[in-house]
Amino acid sequence: MHELSVTQEIIDTIEQARSEAGAHLIVTAVRLKIGRFTAVVPDYLRHYYEMLTQNTPLHGAELHIELVPIVARCRACAAEFVSDSPMLLCPECGATQADVLAGRDLLVESIEVDEPD
Ligand SMILES: [Zn+2]
Repeated sequence: MHELSVTQEIIDTIEQARSEAGAHLIVTAVRLKIGRFTAVVPDYLRHYYEMLTQNTPLHGAELHIELVPIVARCRACAAEFVSDSPMLLCPECGATQADVLAGRDLLVESIEVDEPD
């Protein structure tokens, strides 16, 4: 699964931010922005996060996931359009070749940390 390696990368990013904030801190919440073009399924991501963070200071954090729509530009007629699906179809001319302008990225926007109990 694509989500497994993606989740591991996200965890590495979070862990780095956490350890910079303070080695003893635990992560309570994470805000993620996921472009729909990545085709990452948030439920799988949550599942793998839960699995991969067992017995770490990242375990139990609340994941806030915002899905970012795809914005694309048609290569045939240059129309810009928004798509919820990675299958891009120009609504103006029906062409299927388009350049993705937004919705490709997967970002850890912020993390919240706290003192352990
Ligand atoms: Zn077009």
